[in-house]
Amino acid sequence: MAEDIATLGDGILNGERRALARAITLVESGRSDHRAAAEKLLQHVQPAKRQALRIGLSGTPGVGKSTFIETFGMMLIAKGLRVAVLAVDPSSTRSGGSILGDKTRMERLSRERAAFIRPSPSQNHLGGVARRTREAVSLCEAAGFDVVLIETVGVGQSETVVSELCDLFLLLLAPAGGDELQGVKRGIMEMADMILVNKADGDLKSAATRTCADYAGALRLLRKRPQDPEGYPCARTVSALECEGLQAAWEDMQQLISWRKDNGHWDERRARQAAYWFDQEVRNALLARLAAPQARARMAQIAETVAQGQSSPTAAARAFLAELPG
Ligand code: GDP
Repeated sequence: MAEDIATLGDGILNGERRALARAITLVESGRSDHRAAAEKLLQHVQPAKRQALRIGLSGTPGVGKSTFIETFGMMLIAKGLRVAVLAVDPSSTRSGGSILGDKTRMERLSRERAAFIRPSPSQNHLGGVARRTREAVSLCEAAGFDVVLIETVGVGQSETVVSELCDLFLLLLAPAGGDELQGVKRGIMEMADMILVNKADGDLKSAATRTCADYAGALRLLRKRPQDPEGYPCARTVSALECEGLQAAWEDMQQLISWRKDNGHWDERRARQAAYWFDQEVRNALLARLAAPQARARMAQIAETVAQGQSSPTAAARAFLAELPG
């Protein structure tokens, strides 16, 4: 096994897409021997310390995410960049298939040698999806991808997961009528580095321009963040279908990135994210220990004594935690 892992790791470091796909399958597995192998693999590729630009992309179904990823991805590939696409979709089991499962999505991009597209796994536990995505991002970076796009449909907490994984967070919106602004939660607006109002073409163009101005105004009202230069976060109109505005959006992203790199915010964000994920891993591991059948049975037993007034909730909790197996 150890040798297999080394071979697989070398395949990834050589940028082989098949090795990358196999490795992601490994990190997605729930089996404990696979988990051990996945951790070894991540350790094998980690010293390469390659970094991609991680771009998070969120938007409701139908807003044009896959069209955007296809056109934007093709544009980046034409610039000589290698592009990986991952999805965070905690609802995939409920909707009966992954959001990237449909073969017709990103058809051109999926045929490109410089692209790697990975559908969301069919597990809907957000903690599991978060770890899998984080590890998949690391593997894509090790495989030498320049840009990793992380897509989410924004169900529940998945936006938080994506924003804690990416360097830039894009919010894709559709042109809309007057009071649509209220439809976007403030918390999501606050995560965005750029708002892209899609479908700015044909009959929808003027509505898109108006919507964009509304969001630009709303962004200006948000508290200024230290990681933003003047003029950011910003709102732009794009047409994913007609490849309009994508070059300008890419230039805006470049400008933001170089400002953040020059001012220490890029490294700071990654460091803060690493600390966040450490914290999450500790919490998840503790919750897993609590969920073990033995622990649950013992808890039920102690709860009974607490209910009968034989010990106080605080003292009982402390005693239980002290005996909780590792
Ligand atoms: P997703 O569910 O967010 O991935 O959305 P899709 O990319 O599947 O797009 C949903 C629909 O919107 C499709 O019919 C697309 O052709 C259409 N669409 C996507 N982008 C644009 C655009 O820029 N302009 C117009 N007019 N339609 C678009």
